[in-house]
Amino acid sequence: MFMLSLPHTVSEPPARFDLVIRGGSVIDGTGSPARPADVGIRGGSIAAVGPGLGRGRREIDASGLTVAPGFIDVHTHAENVLVLPSAANFVRDGVTTVIAGNCGESPDDIGAFLAEAERRRISLNIGMLVGHSSVREKAMGGSFDRPPTFEEMQTMRGMVEAAMRQGALGLSTGLIYLPGVFAKTDEIIDLARVAARFGGVYTSHMRSEGNNIRAALEETLAVGRGAGIPVQVSHIKLSGDNNWGRHAEVLGVLDAARAEGLRVTQDQYAYTASSTGLGQLIPAWALEGGSVAFRKRLADPAERARMSAEMAETPARRRRPDFNWVTLADCRCNRKLNGLGLPEATRRVKGQVDMASQIDLILEIEAKGGAGAVFHGMCEEDLQAFMRDRHTMVGSDSGVRRAGKSVPHPRGYGNNARVLARYVREKGVLTLEEAIRKMTSLPAETFGIADRGRLAAGMAADVVVFDPESVADTATFVAPHSFPAGIPWVVVNGEVVVRNGKQTAARPGRAVRGRQCDAAETRPGGGAYEP
Ligand SMILES: [Zn+2]
Repeated sequence: MFMLSLPHTVSEPPARFDLVIRGGSVIDGTGSPARPADVGIRGGSIAAVGPGLGRGRREIDASGLTVAPGFIDVHTHAENVLVLPSAANFVRDGVTTVIAGNCGESPDDIGAFLAEAERRRISLNIGMLVGHSSVREKAMGGSFDRPPTFEEMQTMRGMVEAAMRQGALGLSTGLIYLPGVFAKTDEIIDLARVAARFGGVYTSHMRSEGNNIRAALEETLAVGRGAGIPVQVSHIKLSGDNNWGRHAEVLGVLDAARAEGLRVTQDQYAYTASSTGLGQLIPAWALEGGSVAFRKRLADPAERARMSAEMAETPARRRRPDFNWVTLADCRCNRKLNGLGLPEATRRVKGQVDMASQIDLILEIEAKGGAGAVFHGMCEEDLQAFMRDRHTMVGSDSGVRRAGKSVPHPRGYGNNARVLARYVREKGVLTLEEAIRKMTSLPAETFGIADRGRLAAGMAADVVVFDPESVADTATFVAPHSFPAGIPWVVVNGEVVVRNGKQTAARPGRAVRGRQCDAAETRPGGGAYEP
């Protein structure tokens, strides 16, 4: 593995390409079998894929390695790429495009965000969804446990339309989070209709991924049906020991919807633990109105008792003796607790581990600014069944990581490498070609990114070169800040961002925008939209 700058002499013909990735095993992203070929890149695009290509100004020797389209991670929270533009945890994992704005949360001004991302120069490409919770929060100012008024609904429609015109790829919801949790299905259908007019996708962190998953799936599909919009189930999973094994039921519901004509896909990260705010263990009614309102309720003994009683039911429902599936990842008020299981954290803080003390600790942490947490709540069998489904793509659910900060979920560093190592090489759950398809062409097609996700002439030159024998995630739940092994080269828009396993200073990332007009209009750049 080396990169040559060939001296240009009179006797040699001029290089035909800016960069040639030579002698690798090419997997083009469509699911077609690997084949030996070179990849020739000119400017930011792939100029040719085939055997025996002419010389490149620079060349990468890919013999013994697999050459694939750069990975497209459709489920991220990478809005923080503006402050961490190298996005090292993504690019070192082979990711060349991320979609942010998932689970209902997005920046206020998506056009400004995308422009800023390009102005500041980031290492990878980024697309954005408009988040329903963000829109709802802005339109309904302060009071959320109610339906929107007519005027508020109009405001929300206008905000979704503005976002779609600025290039958003679709609408996302997070129906376990405030304030989205209080929205009824008809409100979501109404807003999804706006996104649908602009060719958008509807992605949903559903209202339940456990006991009530059936109803949650039906609601998600109802949005697809009611709004005429393709639907993406975010981070598909079955949470809670009592729900383990229900994968056939879940996949059956999704298959039936497809048979009916709905476009339904899903994304998944390759771990049996999830991660979100510790506040998820606290009832939504207690958190409504923000931290001041929450602390006020907490100070009221009757309200606090009601919260505790509801929270105490959760472990029992999941057939757990206590909150032993919860680990603190990023506790704002006491960093020493990061990485500890909740029972152990409770023992350190309170000297005892009974349920009441664990609940008290959760409430007190929330009152002091909250915490990120990791929840070990899924089973391997369901994970593999969801992974095998051909409509499932690979998505990390991660933001850009700040090296060494707190003890976050390892998915942010190693999700794609883990699929390739554990689920392709070790367990044989997927073929290599199928795994790559789930990281490339399937996400590109689902989110309408026409010029990425395949290795073919004319496509953007986003390429990852990895060793299928040694690629491996090295990030663990205990030590998550660790880059994968076996991914020596990553190219974004024709520029090398990872060279011999080290990130370069290149920042060639671009904004990935949707079509920005509805089907009846002309494109902002002129010319009619052609479906
Ligand atoms: Zn989510």
